[in-house]
Amino acid sequence: MEANDKIKVIKGIGEKTEKLFNKLGIETVQDLLEHYPREYEEFERPVMLSSIAEGTIIAIEASITATPKIKRIRNLQIVNVQVKDGSGAIHLTWFNMPFLQKTLRSGYHYIFRGKVIRKNGVLIMEQPGIYERESYYKLLKIIQPIYPLTQGVTNTIISKSIKQVLSELEFAKDYIPKPVAKEYQLMDRTKALKEVHFPKDRDSMMKARQRLVFDEFFLYALALRKLKEKKTILRTEYQLLERKECEELIKSLPYALTGAQLRVWQEMKQDLQGEYVMNRLIQGDVGSGKTVLAILALVMAVKNGCQACFMVPTEVLAKQHYKSLEDIAGQFGFSICLLVGSMTAKEKREAYERIKTHKTDIIIGTHALIQEKVEYDRLGLVITDEQHRFGVKQREALMNKGGNPHVLVMSATPIPRTLAIILYGDLDISIVDELPAQRLPIKNCVVDTNYRPNAYRFIAKQVAEGRQTYVICPMVEESEEVEAENVIQYTERLQEELPTDTIVEYLHGKMKPKDKNEVMERYANGEIHVLVSTTVVEVGVNVPNATVMMVENSERFGLAQLHQLRGRVGRGKHQSYCIFVCGSSSKEAWERLEILNKSNDGFFIAGEDLKLRGPGDVFGIRQSGDMDFKLGDIYNDASILKVAAEAVKSLKDEEVDAIFENNPYLEEHILNRNSNTL
Ligand code: ADP
Ligand code: MG
Repeated sequence: MEANDKIKVIKGIGEKTEKLFNKLGIETVQDLLEHYPREYEEFERPVMLSSIAEGTIIAIEASITATPKIKRIRNLQIVNVQVKDGSGAIHLTWFNMPFLQKTLRSGYHYIFRGKVIRKNGVLIMEQPGIYERESYYKLLKIIQPIYPLTQGVTNTIISKSIKQVLSELEFAKDYIPKPVAKEYQLMDRTKALKEVHFPKDRDSMMKARQRLVFDEFFLYALALRKLKEKKTILRTEYQLLERKECEELIKSLPYALTGAQLRVWQEMKQDLQGEYVMNRLIQGDVGSGKTVLAILALVMAVKNGCQACFMVPTEVLAKQHYKSLEDIAGQFGFSICLLVGSMTAKEKREAYERIKTHKTDIIIGTHALIQEKVEYDRLGLVITDEQHRFGVKQREALMNKGGNPHVLVMSATPIPRTLAIILYGDLDISIVDELPAQRLPIKNCVVDTNYRPNAYRFIAKQVAEGRQTYVICPMVEESEEVEAENVIQYTERLQEELPTDTIVEYLHGKMKPKDKNEVMERYANGEIHVLVSTTVVEVGVNVPNATVMMVENSERFGLAQLHQLRGRVGRGKHQSYCIFVCGSSSKEAWERLEILNKSNDGFFIAGEDLKLRGPGDVFGIRQSGDMDFKLGDIYNDASILKVAAEAVKSLKDEEVDAIFENNPYLEEHILNRNSNTL
């Protein structure tokens, strides 16, 4: 078996299963090996039902009291059965596993293991695993890998397939030069792969993980070095001149720019007027006002006769930016157009034509901007918002569309400067480190689920005052379908709790882009009072009239993500509120959320989160989904990141070349793999 083989070579993986694995991003044997556990499970001894607590994963040994019932809610089938032991009874439920009705017979005795949650006031166990007594006790001492799954792919099949690969693959590909491995005392890669999937004990799993994280960061730094090599400082064809329109725009804003905004604008202007191509990253916390900086640069470019692109990660965001540019375009006499995936073929063709003939000056859109068919005319500036959502490939594709346009990337990810220099090695960095002064700090609270009625009353009051609310729905890991289902159910329930004239609507990732846009547009126009949503609203959305952000199950999110969500409110002149509902009774969960309660500062939060979790908690919730490495976490593994970057730096050019020469697929492999990060 070879690392580059398609996974079809694995026993038990046929065409159908292969397709399902592809959905998880697994195409080759190597991909499979790098499909790391998202956590591990160590089975504990069963406890008595009288002693169970909400929010914990436990095992119980109990017998079934009656034939299971099946309830249907839309396309969801819920199996429900009661079990008891000598000390008490509890209901168990499973989603979309109707066959269980036949297996779980009244009187049978099993060990059930799962999470205890509270639903409608009573404790139940959701989606428990079912074990025969004997086999469960055999598992007690083993550390089990738990993998990210998708519908139709079970943990068992992934774990079996990986086991097979590990036993047949003699050596895993190792890119790290021997002297480097020796210097940093890295575990052998093949061994590390074995240990990370099926660890002997916690200690050796940690060492294995360290080795693999080192590899990820090493390859990343290597790719970056290669990239930089190609992109030496370029003279620009578009040396722009200062334009009075920019000053006029600043004067016409309903607010004064902050000191930080002015400083960064100065830095950008200098780049744009210079002889060399701009390559700049603008970092600034949510709400620090990055958009207006982008707009200023766009205006400067078009007033110098260039075309400019503004690329964003979602259509919702593209529409929003389009709207905020419409008036400005009218005011300063230039033309803008939208280019997004959901447009009809005809609309797209028309847009291409307008772009090619330079009838339009600014093009705002999603990935559609880098489609082959788009031809630009004098593309002088490319801006990407929330840049971490774009990979190096996309950025390059866009850059290659023009001669050598200036590049500006904007990000709200709070990364300390030392790390930013490593991670964005090819960019200059500006930081907007100041929030607009007149903004009222958001008032936060962390509450348990019993607080919901109060929260709903509060929301009703805010709506009565003309404000709007977001409710972020319970996050579930099973699948997007379940997530969508949750949002819909929650919306129905919430509608009943709120006054009847309250307009409650929902938004989730499975909706068609067109429908998403429509809901967002109506929300932005104030036609929807309460928006129940998954985290699709997380990035960039700006509805200044929204004043309440309520996050259900907030313990399941990373703090950085919660901070992003919170950033959706507090954008206008009204006092805003954030309600973090914690569905867990664990002390750590509350302590973590308490950090958000205390501070509205993204950098501070990232730092505190790190302190609290410490280096031991490696498989906890990720700090952010942004700089997404498979295993490494730029915050928790910052020390490994630094060391790996150092290791790459100390290589001689010949050594770098040798690595790539010895591994013909490497360059493509790292670019693909890190396409979301680089
Ligand atoms: P982000 O940095 O998160 O992208 P935005 O650019 O969306 O933030 O700005 C958030 C809100 O703050 C917007 O409604 C914007 O109009 C407003 N804003 C931007 N700069 C200022 C400022 N200097 N003073 C007051 N409000 C501002
Ligand atoms: Mg923004």
